[in-house]
Amino acid sequence: MGGKFGAPEKLIVNGKRLDGRKFDEFRPTVIKAGVVQNADGSAMIIQGETKITVAVYGPREVFPKHLTDAAKAYLSCKYDMAAFSTPERSRPGASRRSTEISKIMRDALAPAIFLEKYPKTKIDVYAEVTNANAGTRCAAITAAAVALADAGIEMRDLVVAIASGKADGKVILDMNEPEDNYGEADMPMAIMPRTGEITLLQMDGELTKEEVQKMIEQNIVASREIYELQKKALQDKYSAEKSMHMGDEQNG
Ligand code: ADP
Repeated sequence: MGGKFGAPEKLIVNGKRLDGRKFDEFRPTVIKAGVVQNADGSAMIIQGETKITVAVYGPREVFPKHLTDAAKAYLSCKYDMAAFSTPERSRPGASRRSTEISKIMRDALAPAIFLEKYPKTKIDVYAEVTNANAGTRCAAITAAAVALADAGIEMRDLVVAIASGKADGKVILDMNEPEDNYGEADMPMAIMPRTGEITLLQMDGELTKEEVQKMIEQNIVASREIYELQKKALQDKYSAEKSMHMGDEQNG
């Protein structure tokens, strides 16, 4: 997919990435919980120039009814890109790509949720990309985990997703758009940071065994740092709510 300015000649110049980051540095990341008023839980993430909002509804009645599972909740994930999220208007509605990302979101998140605690219900996760600049599947998973926790759904752990890749022969973390479009490889991973359990691993491009190993390791290290941002987002929301309630009590 062509970037706004076409292919850069090199992705790494004088040992630095075009945006000045170190090879193992992820993009500046902001996570906020509780951003969609009408949802049961929600979160937004800004990772570099990628921006995504996730809303969670449920556990609620299953619709269509035939999807009801007597043993556990049915987890539904829907990834969507806003028409204005890409330089050229992105075609609204489902595409092969959005269907694939919806499925991998579900695969990455399901192991972290105690689905068996919510039999005969449905949990809906909607991820809306408002600005797409690489790494949207990972950012959507990271934000969705926060939104699920914000909805009060019982979880084994949060899930963090992050990708490593290869550009100009170097292993790099968290690609930006030119690195993603013109780099040689891409390996997104979803991790439950507390246990180190990997719930998703995709790979695109050619890599040596050593490169794969390095990518797995640096994804795990980064996931622990992003985990802290997720937990802080949840704490911030609850301390804000608590002080609001305390204010209510004092005023009433
Ligand atoms: P991810 O966003 O998870 O890296 P892809 O590898 O499929 O997923 O896409 C890489 C990037 O390409 C996206 O993050 C986005 O910036 C860009 N992109 C994807 N689809 C479109 C589209 N329809 N129009 C323009 N850019 C797109």
